[in-house]
Amino acid sequence: MLKRISHFFSPNSRKHNTNEHRVIFSNEHKLSPKMINKDALKVVEVLQEHGYDAYVVGGSIRDLLLGLKPKDFDVATNARPSEIKPLFRRSRIIGRRFQIVHVQLGRELIEVTTFRSNETKGTDKKGGSRRQQANSGVLTRDNVFGSISDDASRRDLTINALYYNPSDNSIHDFAGGLDDIDQRLIRIMGDPATRFREDPVRLLRVARFAAKLGFTIDPMTEKPMRKLASNLQHVSPPRLFDETLKLFMSGQGLATFWILYEYGLFDYIAPQVSAMMKDRNNLTGKLIEQAFTNTDLRIRNNKRVTPAFIYAALLWPSVQQLAAGYRERGNSPAYALSKAAGEVIAKQIPITAIPKRFTMPMREIWDLQLLLPRRGGHRAKRLVDHPRFRAAYDFILLREQAGEELSGLGDWWTAYQNADEEKREQMAKALGEPKRNRKRRKPRKPKTD
Ligand code: ATP
Ligand code: MG
Repeated sequence: MLKRISHFFSPNSRKHNTNEHRVIFSNEHKLSPKMINKDALKVVEVLQEHGYDAYVVGGSIRDLLLGLKPKDFDVATNARPSEIKPLFRRSRIIGRRFQIVHVQLGRELIEVTTFRSNETKGTDKKGGSRRQQANSGVLTRDNVFGSISDDASRRDLTINALYYNPSDNSIHDFAGGLDDIDQRLIRIMGDPATRFREDPVRLLRVARFAAKLGFTIDPMTEKPMRKLASNLQHVSPPRLFDETLKLFMSGQGLATFWILYEYGLFDYIAPQVSAMMKDRNNLTGKLIEQAFTNTDLRIRNNKRVTPAFIYAALLWPSVQQLAAGYRERGNSPAYALSKAAGEVIAKQIPITAIPKRFTMPMREIWDLQLLLPRRGGHRAKRLVDHPRFRAAYDFILLREQAGEELSGLGDWWTAYQNADEEKREQMAKALGEPKRNRKRRKPRKPKTD
């Protein structure tokens, strides 16, 4: 016997209409409270004891249903932030655009959000709209509280709009999210174009989850994506930078990158490089593909990855191209590289605000690309001690893997690092004394009358 209760609030509701509310009990799904983080369970329990509705929601439920390990556990409730806070000793209200409560229990930080609405009709105490929209359709303020079904409708994807109640082991599905999990589909909640305009980051979230889960993007969701890619220009640079880290450092960076590229989203993330990728197989395409392949592998092997390395790789083709131009105009390689690096970074920052703690090491990695080939005499010995040597060496390997001809430089450095003191000296000697840097004359300024 099926133990499924279905309420259809609207008799005309289509299969994935957001008004459809299905409650699924334990014998029809594979979740159990044991699978939920105990601190999240505690938060739900406390809220329910005080008479509020509370559910574990979002990515954790989606991931558990797919047999994946959730990153974090979020709780949604009908209690207001000011009602939640006094129930937990170590808690604080954060956020301006959306107020949420961070509850610290033990080592775990649980995010508790009040059910919110996506409606424009809500007003605040002063009678103004609490939900503000810029001309582009972007939501700039969004603090209208609502019911659980309102909350489901304002979420991004159907598979992220599942609410789990551990006290009766039930899942509340408002938009066919369970079916979409079965069919491995990424489907945006509501009208795709409107939802993408409201928050263009949803375009990136579609790409990220399609890659992470290996799901197909539903045709209706997919349809407006290319046309609306340019809306990413409305996302603030610091937020876009954070989002790119989620895209590139998820362990599925390569798959995510190709989806971004295919839908024209990458043009609005790194336009300087995107313009150089006329096809997948030119050197730029290969370098970027290889950078993501290596990053994904490092993540799989629990090795450290840094945004500095990823961004250094993403922007390197542009730096190289620009630097070549400056060299042709008679500048020294070091000056040309430094000038190109500064300009490429300056163009990228208004798009994704890369913090200085990453742009500094990026520039060092690039500078070392000029220095690592010059390794005769005592130079190699000094270079291996450079704090950025390891990253710069990995970068040389990356360039070679991508097909750049560097006369066996990577192999030389690999052997050098593996050699003992004596062998190292022989290796350096075999290269001969380094040539002194001949001072180049500055290019003459064109005469002006
Ligand atoms: P993960 O944490 O594994 O990356 P997640 O789905 O939990 O995935 P979060 O960024 O933690 O993603 O967001 C939590 C939930 O908030 C999501 O499941 C989704 O329901 C909602 N959400 C997040 N970002 C948006 C957005 N831009 N628009 C609408 N809903 C969103
Ligand atoms: Mg999450």
